[in-house]
Amino acid sequence: RRRWRRAVGVLEELDEGCATPIGRLRQVVDAMAVEMHAGLASEGGSKLKMLLTHVCNLPTGKEKGTYYALDLGGTNFRVLRVQLGGQRSAIIGHDLDRQPIPQNLMTSTSEELFDFIATSLKNFVEKEENFSGASQQERRELGFTFSFPVKQTSSSSGNLIQWTKGFSVEDMVGRDVAECLQQAISRKGLDMRVAVLINDTVGTLALGHFHDEDTVAAVIFGTGTNACYLERADAIIKGQGLVTTSGGMVVNMEWGNFWSSHLPRTSYDMDLDVDSPNPNDQGFEKMISGMYLGDIVRRVILRMSQDSDVFGPVSSKLHVPFILRTPLIAAMHEDDSANLSEVARILNNTLEIPNVTLNVRKLVVKICDVVTRRAARLAAAGIVGILKKIGRDGSGGIASGKTKGGSQYKMRRTVVAIEGGLYTNYRMFREYLNEAIGQILGEDVAPHVIIKVTEDGSGIGAALLAASHSSTL
Ligand code: ADP
Repeated sequence: RRRWRRAVGVLEELDEGCATPIGRLRQVVDAMAVEMHAGLASEGGSKLKMLLTHVCNLPTGKEKGTYYALDLGGTNFRVLRVQLGGQRSAIIGHDLDRQPIPQNLMTSTSEELFDFIATSLKNFVEKEENFSGASQQERRELGFTFSFPVKQTSSSSGNLIQWTKGFSVEDMVGRDVAECLQQAISRKGLDMRVAVLINDTVGTLALGHFHDEDTVAAVIFGTGTNACYLERADAIIKGQGLVTTSGGMVVNMEWGNFWSSHLPRTSYDMDLDVDSPNPNDQGFEKMISGMYLGDIVRRVILRMSQDSDVFGPVSSKLHVPFILRTPLIAAMHEDDSANLSEVARILNNTLEIPNVTLNVRKLVVKICDVVTRRAARLAAAGIVGILKKIGRDGSGGIASGKTKGGSQYKMRRTVVAIEGGLYTNYRMFREYLNEAIGQILGEDVAPHVIIKVTEDGSGIGAALLAASHSSTL
């Protein structure tokens, strides 16, 4: 009995440490807006990098023609061909080729890496054009999604700051990645122009805006998390003298690195951070994204197992970092069988913890719930923080027959594009996030804010931006 008490004690302490009452969420909203200001005021002014993308115009739905995209962001790269019919619903078709990057090229020279990519691109173009019988009249236009840290110098050029995710092509660091690709394309004799260089969130925003021009921000919840949004040029103080034709620019927040003392942090988060290859970085991401949620749960189960005997002897598997992936905690969390058989199966198969009683299985479900609920609610606060920064959170008052401070204006319809496996596949995460946005905004404002799921912004969005930045348009 005392042992059971201790197990419950671990859960209660977790629950308290992860608490996200509405007041605290509001503090996170405010902190996000404040940090956004600071990051826009000066380089290094905030943990939020607030990178200028130099993308000032988003697709409108009127784009026409055939465009290409190249998406390089991890172990695979993809090439796409998108045909646009000039009406927003009409992405006539897109074709796709996906290939793994050979291991040896991830640590070779830029010439070898980009020659390989350009060769694949050329083969794809030839195959597609043969198949469709199309002969290219004008120069082909390509959108390049490159999901590594880049300092943009224009919407079609930018220098690699550093490699991540296992790449280390040293001679690339500091160089213009679009130019490296363009040169390789030319070496292969392919007539194609790199029209835009973007990161994946910007592609999501482009795709969202293509379908719905009220889209002002895009957020990704996948293995990692990031967000971008449309900012007024005159609010970008560090870009002094920025001239844009539209008066706005997309800002890539790199919000995974957001931090605030208002975030509810537990000892599990601190341990996870210390054990990570990038301690003190990506603090928001480590509480929210798919890469980490499973590992937070693993750490809590380990503690529970050590402090009580409800799991039997401590399984050595509980000491293995990242052994419990987020899709597994989703499966346990959403197990609706009466005896929680899925929970039992995962505990047994993945963690080698057999014969767990129903009551203890319920504790495990509750751990998943606490960790995921906190993640989703903090993510919601982050989104409302963006809306607050751009005056779309309704805090300036909305006209629904009421006036506030004498001023009366209509709350504009506001769309946020969302993408990523954590949001689309994990129902509880999605529901908690949507619910929290409603709670923070309140019932007068919430109906004006719409969350829209997009799919494959990093591919299709890049092709759409190539179209809207096309030299032939
Ligand atoms: P990316 O790895 O580029 O972010 P996705 O947007 O597809 O790709 O996100 C994949 C991530 O989403 C996985 O790493 C995982 O953390 C999370 N995920 C995928 N499926 C599920 C699921 N069923 N339940 C919970 N999380 C999931």
